[in-house]
Amino acid sequence: MKFDDLGLHADLLKGIKDLGFETPTPVQAESIPHILAGRDVIASAQTGTGKTAAFVLPILHRLSTIPRRKLGVRALIVSPTRELTLQSMDHLKKLSRYVHLKGHAIFGGVPMDPQIAMLKQGLDIISATPGRLLDHVYSGRIDFGALEVLVLDEADRMMDMGFLPDIKRILSLLPPKRQNLIFSATIPAEIMTLAKEICHDAVTVRVSPQTTTAAGIRHAVYPVSQPQKTELLLRLLNEHPGMSSVIIFTRTKIKADKVGRSLERAGIKVAIIHGDRSQIQRSRALDSFKYGKTQVLVATDVAARGIDVKDISHVINYDVPSTPEDYIHRAGRTARAETEGDAFSLVAPDEEEMITEIERVINQRLPRVTLPDFTYEKRPASHHRAHSRPHRTRHQSFGGQARHR
Ligand code: AMP
Repeated sequence: MKFDDLGLHADLLKGIKDLGFETPTPVQAESIPHILAGRDVIASAQTGTGKTAAFVLPILHRLSTIPRRKLGVRALIVSPTRELTLQSMDHLKKLSRYVHLKGHAIFGGVPMDPQIAMLKQGLDIISATPGRLLDHVYSGRIDFGALEVLVLDEADRMMDMGFLPDIKRILSLLPPKRQNLIFSATIPAEIMTLAKEICHDAVTVRVSPQTTTAAGIRHAVYPVSQPQKTELLLRLLNEHPGMSSVIIFTRTKIKADKVGRSLERAGIKVAIIHGDRSQIQRSRALDSFKYGKTQVLVATDVAARGIDVKDISHVINYDVPSTPEDYIHRAGRTARAETEGDAFSLVAPDEEEMITEIERVINQRLPRVTLPDFTYEKRPASHHRAHSRPHRTRHQSFGGQARHR
């Protein structure tokens, strides 16, 4: 299947080419034809599958080929986080370079005025988080009378975050005759119920859960006791070649703060994102990491969902994730777009079991590595010597101590 076969407008095909997308991903190949045909779609697909372009492309096609009937917003994308609203707007802007449509991301935690100014100009597409969207609607700044397409992006996460009442309020303001697209990593019962309420004769698209990681990822497991994890992490950050842009995952928000602070004390530039940080703190942290001002981003899984940062050299699991899917997802933050990257896991004895489970799902044995000159308080069970043959990475030319991009 090629993008040319999907029936998308030639100007969009140019945008796709500029972005370097060669072939549609499975969720794109399966959902785009249905969306172009005007059907309601319920698609189960995680971040990383190309789901954003799967709804953005057909929306752009529709809006650029069917003339508007009324003034007002024609497509609304509702997402749980600022990062996701920005990601869909980024896709929209890049893919619509050759079609003239106006879109804007609307999210909370930032001043209202710039958003008000954009709304006054008149927008074709809005990508929004529920709360701030309702603030604007209730202040009379958005009228949905012209709405043609609604997308609920990461619907399962919106439910988890308690957005169902807001979503119901938004739904009550939309014209009943519209196209509904629901994208969700999982489809639990409450989403099925919501989908039945709002969709008409929906097509279900299921992309099988990912059980493989990209070929360019080099995995390594570093067995170490829990109390020595930070010490080992510092050694890796300081001595391993090419640690130019590193995401460190922790399982909890408290741990993210703790690890971040330890690294800062050791003189490493760190950005931290998790659910308890304000929108402004999160966007500052993410921008400083994205633009290379900080070498390290410490994040929890939830906060990191939807983040699209290219050129991540290393993913380090400070804590082993609690499911193989999370491991695949975390590791997938590096080696994007067919490049290479490393996924390291610091593994305490009680986390070994999960590593075995991850190995079973991805059908790959993860090499165990011990640092030769690290004083392990308790000798780890499995061993391969590291650093005698350093990993080759694309950042090697920066030298082992590289701190900044
Ligand atoms: P998403 O699942 O929407 O978060 O997308 C994950 C990443 O895949 C983003 O960086 C997209 O730019 C990229 N992407 C989306 N579609 C394609 C495609 N057809 N080919 C290559 N990369 C893609």
